[in-house]
Amino acid sequence: MARADLMDFDKALELFEPVLGFEVHVELNTATKMFSDAPNPAAAAVSGTAGDDATVEPNTMITPVDLGLPGSLPVVNDTAVRYSISLGLALGCSIASSSRFARKNYFYPDLAKDYQISQYDEPIAFEGSVDVELEDGTTFTVPIERAHMEEDAGKLTHVGGATGRIHGAEYSLVDYNRAGVPLVEIVTKPIVGAEGRAPEVAKAYVATIRDIVRALGISEARMERGNLRCDANVSLRPRTPEGQEPAPFGTRTETKNVNSMRSVERAVRYEIQRQAAILAKGGTITQETRHWHEDSGETSPGRPKSDADDYRYFPEPDLLPIEPSAELIETLRKALPEAPAARRRRLQESWGFTDLEFRDVNNAGLLVEVEETVAAGASPAAARKWWTGEISRLANAQGAEASTLISPAAVAAVVELVETKVVNDKLARQVIEGVIAGEGSPAEVVESRGLKVVSDEGALVAAVDAALADQPDVLEKIREGKVQAAGAIIGAVMKAMGGQADAGRVREIVLERAQG
Ligand code: ADP
Ligand code: MG
Repeated sequence: MARADLMDFDKALELFEPVLGFEVHVELNTATKMFSDAPNPAAAAVSGTAGDDATVEPNTMITPVDLGLPGSLPVVNDTAVRYSISLGLALGCSIASSSRFARKNYFYPDLAKDYQISQYDEPIAFEGSVDVELEDGTTFTVPIERAHMEEDAGKLTHVGGATGRIHGAEYSLVDYNRAGVPLVEIVTKPIVGAEGRAPEVAKAYVATIRDIVRALGISEARMERGNLRCDANVSLRPRTPEGQEPAPFGTRTETKNVNSMRSVERAVRYEIQRQAAILAKGGTITQETRHWHEDSGETSPGRPKSDADDYRYFPEPDLLPIEPSAELIETLRKALPEAPAARRRRLQESWGFTDLEFRDVNNAGLLVEVEETVAAGASPAAARKWWTGEISRLANAQGAEASTLISPAAVAAVVELVETKVVNDKLARQVIEGVIAGEGSPAEVVESRGLKVVSDEGALVAAVDAALADQPDVLEKIREGKVQAAGAIIGAVMKAMGGQADAGRVREIVLERAQG
């Protein structure tokens, strides 16, 4: 639907109440896969050093189990089960004393076995809730239906078309490295009451899940790499007069694999506006999956949504039920990291940020980045300044997430360069630009772009003297005690030095020379 045909967001909210539901897939970072001893491409050692999955040779991280070859049998990854229990506990869920795997049967070329091992009626974790913090500092509680274990499918690359989608492609390539990567799927209950803040709740929910799994250390949680994937369900129901029963839920659409927090927010807003426009004209919503298009900011129809019956779920005969002992569950519960809200309070205190400063960082989804930059040696104030300032500006310009552009260690190195006066703020911005452009570490960028501030006193003094000689009237004013007049001289010197001088030091020299 073209943007012009969408209903105005506020108008849509007047007529309808949005109902949301999220399915978030988390790739666990265990060393090996869910049911085989193949290395896990979503593990830190792989995704951290090799960067993108794309740098791993396709079809090199597979065993007969991942391909479903005859005679191969799955074996459950104990670490993945522990991680799943920890995640369930962190989501406030009950942990099942016995839970089972189930086969979800369907054909697709990325699924060599023709069935996915998942969990169906007996998930490992159920009935929980997650508190998410909104931009104004208030909390919204998202009810959790279940969190279940399953395996990922392989990856298809459609070649030869304009869009990278299967339609219009000449052929497709399949890479089974991802087949069998351990996943936890977290499913919310229908979320009501978010109202006009529905898009914000969507983004904050995904951010909170990301924070939780990162704090647990069980996933790399990089959305751009597919470690965390969100399907957003949206429906609308008409408002009923005060005092009457609310209308039943409307038909939902499921927007698949929205791969950034910002996109989740936009996709929910778009679906609310699109569905409202259709419903207001007396139309009906088709229950279907939809694709999110980052470039146009629209969703388009995917496939009609299957009922669970179509998958012919049945208990996986090759695996025993999972029966964690009460002791194990208690041990894992005691080892849980602090909850995100408590963590936020602690960080704000230790960084000494005002509410506003802290919210700035939190709302930009940059808590982890600032935390890691501080851990790498930067002052909290400097870490905040660079992440929420220059780096966010560059990220916006590129339509990317700030965290994907530069590492906390690199930012800390830039801060260090500023503090040791190797570069000034202005040059530091160029250093950051260079690092993001892939020109190397901060030190390498300073070297290759020649960005060092001039620390040669003789050169600075000469430049100051030249500027003072050029502007005798200013020199006169400074001598009369009008110190602020020095700004003109400092500006001239900075210009003469191509910005590569320490303005503070230049100021000192100007005052010295003017008196001398
Ligand atoms: P499916 O397998 O069809 O994707 P799931 O039960 O896994 O179904 O997930 C559906 C998601 O949609 C859940 O988060 C659920 O709470 C949510 N949901 C269900 N009904 C509605 C509705 N009418 N509007 C919005 N969300 C809904
Ligand atoms: Mg589902």
